Amino acid sequence: MGILEKTYDNSPIFFQNIMTSVAGYKNNRTRFGKTYYDYIDFLSDFDTWELGRKLEYQHAELRRFLKYTVANSKFYRDLYKNIDIDAIQSISDLRKLPIVDKEMLRENINDVITIPHRDAVEGHTGGTTGKSLVVLFTPEDMMKRMAMLDHFKKRAGFEHRKMRRATFNGKHIVPPGQQKRIFWRYNAACKQMIYSSFHLTEENMKYYVESLNTFKPHAIDGFFMSMCDIASYIERHNIKLEFTPNAIFPTSETLTQSGRQLLERVFNSKVYDQYASSEGAPFVTECKNQVLHMELASGVFELVEDGSDEVLVTSFTTHGTPLIRYRIGDAMSLDNDNNNCKCTIMSPIVREIRGRKLDFLYTTDGAKVTVVNIANGFKNIPNAIIRAQVSQEKIGEVIIKLEIDEVYYKKEYDKLLENEFIHKFGNGTKIIIEHVKEIPREKSGKFRMIKNNV
Ligand SMILES: [Zn+2]
Repeated sequence: MGILEKTYDNSPIFFQNIMTSVAGYKNNRTRFGKTYYDYIDFLSDFDTWELGRKLEYQHAELRRFLKYTVANSKFYRDLYKNIDIDAIQSISDLRKLPIVDKEMLRENINDVITIPHRDAVEGHTGGTTGKSLVVLFTPEDMMKRMAMLDHFKKRAGFEHRKMRRATFNGKHIVPPGQQKRIFWRYNAACKQMIYSSFHLTEENMKYYVESLNTFKPHAIDGFFMSMCDIASYIERHNIKLEFTPNAIFPTSETLTQSGRQLLERVFNSKVYDQYASSEGAPFVTECKNQVLHMELASGVFELVEDGSDEVLVTSFTTHGTPLIRYRIGDAMSLDNDNNNCKCTIMSPIVREIRGRKLDFLYTTDGAKVTVVNIANGFKNIPNAIIRAQVSQEKIGEVIIKLEIDEVYYKKEYDKLLENEFIHKFGNGTKIIIEHVKEIPREKSGKFRMIKNNV
């Protein structure tokens, strides 16, 4: 990658676009093979099945996946050595199997993996939250995962590679030192304009908006907070948009209610949430009625039996690095018995995805304040805050960093915020408010609204 990156950085922008597209076409070759098209067809058919038939299919896949794993993964074979695998026929039987956590997987990764590295597609997980891990996918599983996502988008009215999409991600597409204010590159292979998440400053924002207005994407996807930044700029400056996307698909960051409303208002379109981790978890997707559904063909979600809302995942697209009853570190409220959404997907409902465990801070008593609650703390100060980040180094102290809009921000807002947060964190917590020119993003390009360093 070194030489290629150097060549890229030293090339004119038009050539960088060509290089981006060439990489895109190369990716497509491994992503859109026969398995992909077959699975897309299968999923369209699967959507029309009755719930009972879907569950039967899910149980059969589960049995098949367990058999494969025990036959091919030394780690799981050892772990299950005193358990009769054939006796596991349904999801309730799964409880007979031990829980696998990230540390177990990391320690034993060579025994977990079932395929040679050279045939595999790599997946990288959670760098910022501590343990990072490389998992391997078979090319077939990767294609199925791709198909699952594209199928979900198709339900929302967006056809991948046929329609234009604007993506905000963490790719380093703008070389350091570039003078021109062109913060995007075109990947012709997917009709995709990739926008840099690292250059979204107030001064640059109008160039992004101009580009979007010229490109006229049918969908916007990628980092949630980057989209919110753009949307907030558009709203604050009363800019007229010359396109209406069919759908908005945020990824990678926990959604807030206020951010979602902002996006839907500004882009006059619907936000469709999804859950799909880089480790290869099964999917949860949002339907047209804004209800989250489990994708039963992709795997199984269970709750940890300790009364918490942490989920365990068993994923049918992880033949390379099997995940069975894997404690992935995310929390959800499941609504297993409720599937009476009026849409036609007919699968169990997830009431809420609560995201990474670290997406909360502590009160003086050690209770948790979630990201959604913290986001609500700012909602009485509309339009005046460009970006906010709330961090905690120790219990009893909360630091709020603010990028403010000087035109709208009033002096008394500091007091208002302090009061709001005292109510959330308790009298014993010191609230420190800092006004800064720019809140830095993470190395990945993601913006973290919450930083829990306790
Ligand atoms: Zn639905």
